[in-house]
Amino acid sequence: MRIAIRTGVLYDGTDAPARRNVTVLVEDGRIAAISGNDERAGAEQTFEAACVTPGLINSHVHLEVNGEPDTQTFFLIRTPTERTLDAARNARLSLEAGVTTVRDLGGSESNAIALRDAVTTGQHVGPTIIPAGRAICMTGGHGFFLGREADGPWDARKAVREQRKAGATCIKLIATGGVLTKGAVPGQDQLSEEEMRAAIIEAGTHGMRVAAHAIGTNGIKNALRAGVTSIEHGHLLDDEAIALFRERKAYLVPTLAAVWCIYENIAGGAQPDYVVRKATEIYHQAGDNIRKAWRAGVTIAGGSDAGTPYNRHENYAYEVELMSTVLGMTPQQALTAATATAAELLGVEAGILAKGRPADLLLLGGDVGADVRALRDPRVVIKAGAVAHERA
Ligand SMILES: [Zn+2]
Repeated sequence: MRIAIRTGVLYDGTDAPARRNVTVLVEDGRIAAISGNDERAGAEQTFEAACVTPGLINSHVHLEVNGEPDTQTFFLIRTPTERTLDAARNARLSLEAGVTTVRDLGGSESNAIALRDAVTTGQHVGPTIIPAGRAICMTGGHGFFLGREADGPWDARKAVREQRKAGATCIKLIATGGVLTKGAVPGQDQLSEEEMRAAIIEAGTHGMRVAAHAIGTNGIKNALRAGVTSIEHGHLLDDEAIALFRERKAYLVPTLAAVWCIYENIAGGAQPDYVVRKATEIYHQAGDNIRKAWRAGVTIAGGSDAGTPYNRHENYAYEVELMSTVLGMTPQQALTAATATAAELLGVEAGILAKGRPADLLLLGGDVGADVRALRDPRVVIKAGAVAHERA
């Protein structure tokens, strides 16, 4: 299959200057050429677009949840079969919204793993999925109702081995309390540095990267010292944490939408009081803290925590908008965080449009560099060189 796309502007996913009036040739699942000439002749499918970007990469999702206001209760009442169906639908909705790769950072069972396989074999429509399996937390820790509780370095290692056995290709650790678990305090440490270090060594042995949920200041530093690849949330970071991020070359996935979606839906929303209280406290600090980290040179990768209250899988564009409006990134920098940088974090080949790279790309109706909202509702989504979705 040969597809040719003529576009007014192309962002390749990096901070390289945009290219104007080019043709993208797609062949056998990959980018065959990006050329200034109009090379549409001979293609089986041709398109015209105002703007072309790589498919978006969401580094932090939970495919089993759909944005319900009370995540913990929803998880506890949902049957395994219902979770499977939800995950399959969220995979499809993500792809239709232009998200061509996701990292699932924790589910109750092996749904995201099975879906990853179903997408790979073509049995189900969805983005490329990089699943963590169950998140690893301390006994009674944040997300215990869906996670694998582990205590002590050897149990943490065993928990990693279990996720690998189930088919996970990355690992999620819980370093501090969180918003959506009743009784968990976001500022408090949970897994110890010693436990995380053991889990990270074990994961590294198997080539698995490790993400740590960390909101509290000290827990962020524990996870960074232990050697995580990415800090998820990181909202209460301080100057010492910023220095550690840079020293360890760790990524920060700020999941702004997780906090903003709760805060913006307080009126008329149905979140439990403890969720509103904790999210509000974080909302008033997160923007300033993450902006400071970005300005200080911390590498930020896009991830929305999709599935948390009012934070839907198909609205990942909102996270990209928030990285621009809240953190002060240019639209192109925010796009880079959600494409090339996220790809680098996940260790995937997608995320950059260049000859020989996987043909995961979006055709937009407007120039995203001029208005980041152009990422909402892409006209055509191409994944692995085939049209995955075309807006009616
Ligand atoms: Zn999460």
